[in-house]
Amino acid sequence: MTDPAVHSGSVTDRYADLPLPASSILRATAAGGTLRLVGIEASRIVEEARLRHHLSKTATAALGRALAASALLAVVLGKRTDARVSLRIEGGGPVGWIVAEGSADGRLRGYVRQPGADLPPRASDGKLDVSGIVGTDGEIAVTRLLANGEPYTGSVRLQSGEIAEDVSFYLGASEQIPNAVLLGVYEEGGRVAHAGGLIIQAMPGVSDETLGRLEANIRALGLLTDQLRAGGLLAALEAAAQGLDLQLATEAQPAHFSCRCSRGKALDSLKFFDANERQEMIEEGGQNVHCHWCGENYHLSPAEIAALDAEERRAQA
Ligand SMILES: [Zn+2]
Repeated sequence: MTDPAVHSGSVTDRYADLPLPASSILRATAAGGTLRLVGIEASRIVEEARLRHHLSKTATAALGRALAASALLAVVLGKRTDARVSLRIEGGGPVGWIVAEGSADGRLRGYVRQPGADLPPRASDGKLDVSGIVGTDGEIAVTRLLANGEPYTGSVRLQSGEIAEDVSFYLGASEQIPNAVLLGVYEEGGRVAHAGGLIIQAMPGVSDETLGRLEANIRALGLLTDQLRAGGLLAALEAAAQGLDLQLATEAQPAHFSCRCSRGKALDSLKFFDANERQEMIEEGGQNVHCHWCGENYHLSPAEIAALDAEERRAQA
């Protein structure tokens, strides 16, 4: 008998058939290079996260916004094409905490403490209550690797728990980057239909006229998910930079939910136990190792665990 949650093959192939377009990151400049725009279409990634972690509706929206933000921050803050940024949001709400990690080359993963936590839609506007589930009494911490390989973490108090406003405040206060941040997850029939994010960064030398136009554009743009529904990520970029001469910088960077766990690493983690403990695992028919980041369960067989001990004996001989 096989537990359907336990599987031993590739981590990603189970979600290949989701009826959603491939996710991607788009970069652009506007207003003669004085504005930099980075957007991510993340519907597929967020739906995969929902399925992997059995997330409630509101937890899906919260983790989805954090995932989109992590990839955008990796592009904005990273110096390398494979720069990685992780985000930890803890606001005292029912979801516990949220962790998301994104890289500029489009690999995203993340999880929340309480995936089943949920709240009714907000009475005021019927929207998912993200700030309610995240909470507002806490902080957002952003960790990235500096050029010398050392991790650097900056953090600020949460502003609203809605995540976009919190990421924007972080960029302004901790990184001195004037910016606008839009994040959104739109669900339909219990599934993610649209999700994504957009960061617009004002560069040195930007004119007041450009900033005024940008502000007006963002007010007129409304919800990011409405733009994604109507015309996709490109439409959102065009709306944000309307009248500001948008220049798409590069080809779209494909993005996906991608974890760095593997069967080999799961097996390696058993080396932290002593030989007696591993013998118990063998006698009990093997051991499950769970990856928090992606929800994957690796069932390691008695033979695999025994091989680990044989390998260790060889190393000691
Ligand atoms: Zn994993």
